[in-house]
Amino acid sequence: MKVLTIIGARPQFIKAAVVSRAFKEHRPEVQEIIVHTGQHYDANMSDVFFDELEIPKPDYNLGIGGGSHGQNTGRMIEKLEALMMKVRPQWVLVYGDTDSTLAGALAAAKLHIAVAHVEAGLRSFNRRMPEEINRVLTDHIAEILFAPTETGRQNLLNEGIPEEKIKLVGDVMYDASLFYKGKARKPALPHELNIKDGDFVLCTIHRAENTDDPQRLSGIFQGLGDSGETIALPMHPRTRGKIADYNIAIPDNVWVIHPVGYLEMVWLESNCRLVATDSGGVQKEAYFFGKPCVTMRDETEWIELVEAGWNTLSGTDSKEISTALLAHTAPQSNPFYGDGAIAQKIVARMFG
Ligand code: UDP
Repeated sequence: MKVLTIIGARPQFIKAAVVSRAFKEHRPEVQEIIVHTGQHYDANMSDVFFDELEIPKPDYNLGIGGGSHGQNTGRMIEKLEALMMKVRPQWVLVYGDTDSTLAGALAAAKLHIAVAHVEAGLRSFNRRMPEEINRVLTDHIAEILFAPTETGRQNLLNEGIPEEKIKLVGDVMYDASLFYKGKARKPALPHELNIKDGDFVLCTIHRAENTDDPQRLSGIFQGLGDSGETIALPMHPRTRGKIADYNIAIPDNVWVIHPVGYLEMVWLESNCRLVATDSGGVQKEAYFFGKPCVTMRDETEWIELVEAGWNTLSGTDSKEISTALLAHTAPQSNPFYGDGAIAQKIVARMFG
């Protein structure tokens, strides 16, 4: 029995780490073959996750990254198709919403290989996001859809996907947060960044809708600056490039560091006062570690955290951001993301 796992971007390495471990522990008879498409290739966006999360080294690395969406997706489909014809797995396993996800799903479907999609059913209802297109198409190709939330399950039903294909299992990122929190490690930080007593805001920005729009990106930095809060910002390479292109000044209260590994990220998330982000995964991790979150987007796929009062949608207007960063929130309820054994359920459903 073979499963071909396709990963390519940072959040996928983290999700695959827990599922891969579940295969080894609970279905050792299954041979997992891991393909890294090469979408994220910097050492601190890729290698560090394989090393510290003990993900098996990829069996294949396609080395495809750095192009446009169309170039990357097309090249991935071509190489993945050839690989799938060689390996002939029972399942192709894809995660989330990147170009690697869609390319893997499309290549498999045309070869009549069943696709399993982890993190199915998430919707922003904003078709201008490349991630939204990737998710919708992948969900309509997949044979088994692992939804992390009831909202996700409902979205799939609303799109006419047969109920028997949908498995509401919970969020594998919750498994990851439980498994790795005991291994969290403080990152190297600038001396001047005084983060004692947890009085700092952890910030990440990487979503194309923000980085590729000079007005939105400058609104974010203006808002972070106006808040006057001490802010630690592990900066995504895409954001770094765009800030230079648009000549945006980094405010004095914002401390930019390199992207950190997951164990260091968990330390920052566990020790900060508040999280400000446009990331999908980081919104939930804020909640997993008991921190309020300001999401610098106009909508979110994780709506239950907004409804429960853990997450505030600020958009990218500077005034909205600075006000939200200084507000005191009082969450009303605790959304359920599963029981921490989600990866185990996923492998059992695939090879039960
Ligand atoms: N992350 C990390 N180091 C960083 C920033 C993020 O390990 O410097 C982790 C974060 O903890 C989360 C995942 O990367 O688990 C989220 O990835 P990202 O924000 O790139 O993508 P998204 O979740 O928006 O798809």
